[in-house]
Amino acid sequence: MNVPSNSRTLPAEDSPRPVFDRVPRLESMGQEIHDFIAELYPIPRCITGDGVRETLRRIGQRIPLQIHEVPSGTKVLDWTVPKEWNIRGASLKTSAGDTVLDFADCNLHVVYSSAPIDATMPLSELRPRLYSLPEHPDWVPYRYSHYGNAWGFCLSHRQLEALPDGDYHVRIDSTLSDGSLTYGECVIQGRSDEEVLVSCHICHPALANDNLSGVAIATALAGHLGGLDLTYTYRFIFIPSLIGAITWLARNEAGLGRIRAGLVLSCLGDPGPPTYKKSRHGGREIDRAVAHILGQSGDPFDVVDFSPYGYDERQFNSPGFDLPVGLLMRTPFERFAEYHTSADNLDFVRPDALADSFHKCLSIFHVLDNNRILINQSPKGEPQLGRRGLYREVSGQSDEKLEELPLLWVLNLCDGSHSLLDIAERSGLAFTRIKHAANALQRVGLLKDAGVSP
Ligand code: ZN
Repeated sequence: MNVPSNSRTLPAEDSPRPVFDRVPRLESMGQEIHDFIAELYPIPRCITGDGVRETLRRIGQRIPLQIHEVPSGTKVLDWTVPKEWNIRGASLKTSAGDTVLDFADCNLHVVYSSAPIDATMPLSELRPRLYSLPEHPDWVPYRYSHYGNAWGFCLSHRQLEALPDGDYHVRIDSTLSDGSLTYGECVIQGRSDEEVLVSCHICHPALANDNLSGVAIATALAGHLGGLDLTYTYRFIFIPSLIGAITWLARNEAGLGRIRAGLVLSCLGDPGPPTYKKSRHGGREIDRAVAHILGQSGDPFDVVDFSPYGYDERQFNSPGFDLPVGLLMRTPFERFAEYHTSADNLDFVRPDALADSFHKCLSIFHVLDNNRILINQSPKGEPQLGRRGLYREVSGQSDEKLEELPLLWVLNLCDGSHSLLDIAERSGLAFTRIKHAANALQRVGLLKDAGVSP
């Protein structure tokens, strides 16, 4: 038997692989995911603080979530967990007392991580602290200064241009103090301790695609997988980007060897086609599973090579970890004009796109969870299918018609050196058809599980 040297023993199973066939109706799923985005949208999230906690509390109402608090000042890899930032309110008023901006109206109005201030100053002094988008005069930009602790306001360019000269009362009621960094973790235990990691960032305020779409889809996926009999263990992490990934990696280094595949989820609700950014290695099982699902979908898609710029796949793929983790998006961040602006709102994310992203993620997990190495028990010549009742199924006399071509591919390539995903790739047939044929052959004893993971 030819088994790759890095293979591990899989726990025994007595029935063909469980399938992901209890997929909820996609229209209602898309709306449900959109509703959850709408629920989380008003919460002012930053990399630390009560906005993240409140978000995790609501996720925890839907899936079993373990909350971790890591104290400020904790050394994590080459970084230090920062002080905790919280905001209670912010406003900009004219000297006559008229409110120009109120954080309560739009939580993008303040630069995130702004230092507190309560002062009166002329427009000329205030002006460098005001951020707008001249090219999109009705949109409010999202700005942050997580590691600089400057203060400032964001507003539409139209609002900015209409500001009369004079004095302004500036108030940002925020605190930056010792506290903690908060993240959440949901583990769906499978039969094997080997893991599929799913990561999303929870540190942006009212931005729907980046990244409430990722948060809501990850929550829906964890909820769905929780009811299934799974081969692998699925670990969902809800973390602030960059420092959250660094913190999680620092605290979980001993267990990283269990991760056999991973996906970072972000920007999954816009109407653009899916884009997959490969892991650093580029040819890992996750890269092949995603390419296979997107390729078989019949929909437009894009697959791009890894680059060390983007979301937390940067940290997971840093050379000291080199984890098999890719990034799944629709339109890549920074390629849609609405990115990091108030136009990345609840209208920009569509229930049908969210449902499609959810379904594609599930299909990817389906490949990972069912990919196997099986061995033909009658490899000399083609075995007689009729004697085993399979010919009847092929010719359509059984409830579930079997296809001949996948059966032949499976029988031919199940020599111990090919996984079901290898066979799907080589035959050009969908993984589900290959798996269906393999299940039937295994049922009649023509295939035996090699007992190792691919
Ligand atoms: Zn972002």
